[in-house]
Amino acid sequence: MLITKGFVENEPDKSVDLVSEIMKMKKDKNAIILAHYYQTSDIQDIADFIGDSLALSQKAEANDADIILFAGVNFMAETAKILAPQKKVLLPDLMAGCSLADSCNPTEFKKFIDDNPGRTVISYVNTTAEIKALTDIICTSSNALKIVESLPEGEKIIFAPDRNLGNYIKNQTDRDMLIWDGACHVHEEFSLEAIVKLKKENPEAKIIVHPECELPVRLVADFIGSTAALLKYTREDYAGIYIIATEPGIIHQMKKSSPDKIFIPAPAKDSTCGCSECNFMKLITLKKIYNTLKFEQPEIRLDKELMDRARKPIRRMLDISQKLGL
Ligand code: SF4
Repeated sequence: MLITKGFVENEPDKSVDLVSEIMKMKKDKNAIILAHYYQTSDIQDIADFIGDSLALSQKAEANDADIILFAGVNFMAETAKILAPQKKVLLPDLMAGCSLADSCNPTEFKKFIDDNPGRTVISYVNTTAEIKALTDIICTSSNALKIVESLPEGEKIIFAPDRNLGNYIKNQTDRDMLIWDGACHVHEEFSLEAIVKLKKENPEAKIIVHPECELPVRLVADFIGSTAALLKYTREDYAGIYIIATEPGIIHQMKKSSPDKIFIPAPAKDSTCGCSECNFMKLITLKKIYNTLKFEQPEIRLDKELMDRARKPIRRMLDISQKLGL
């Protein structure tokens, strides 16, 4: 078996029905598939659990499986391994990274913290294990606002790595926050002009936006929330049409929950590039999942001491979230 490009290079026999073989292997190996909402619909449909980063972290910790196959990106599989170090955690393609996680380098981040002492460090889950190990409390877009609000009024904060989410929370809470200058290339790619044009063509549509989007896009939003919050909103809201400014993978679940509603993906600034889709998330395919379960590779392996340090701020997030009923 060969892993030179980050995934198992094996061509399954043409007669193999990938979906039924994956289902069979899951059962035989006591494995579960955790899939992020940004995965393609065929992968979401074979997953044991689909969610955003917060729900997936909670699920990674609370399950009886021996193997967790993560249909998502590297930092998510790392988080699962940190929370469940006794389990085998598999990621079908090790090249499934994250531009946001990559925008925060551990050496530079350590210097940023040292240069600004006395601040509580809150980092988004979209970070490497090294960044988590430098952090006091992890957050996700589902709980970031509540976690900041849960700290005493005068507490000074460093927030990393997403500048858009950080600024959104700072504006909502008026807290003293120093914000790292990182961003997600997908959420910064939405075109304000194209969204406004869509709204003119569909005046009854509601614009719903992820907080990782830039300020001008957030300013035209009817609702801002995490991926899970956007899904809940479309389920409970009365409107029949929505313009969705986040990765369009979530639309599969929106359509399943509200089959009579219309969901329009917000266009990217460059209409020719398909940049509103996360190219890292889309590296995961059914074939790679099949090969990964079959050969139990690639496996996430992390240094024990690093995992122990990175687990503390994740646990703090999970404990606060539990207390707040999130
Ligand atoms: S959508 Fe952005 S933040 Fe999410 S995994 Fe892709 S690059 Fe990272």
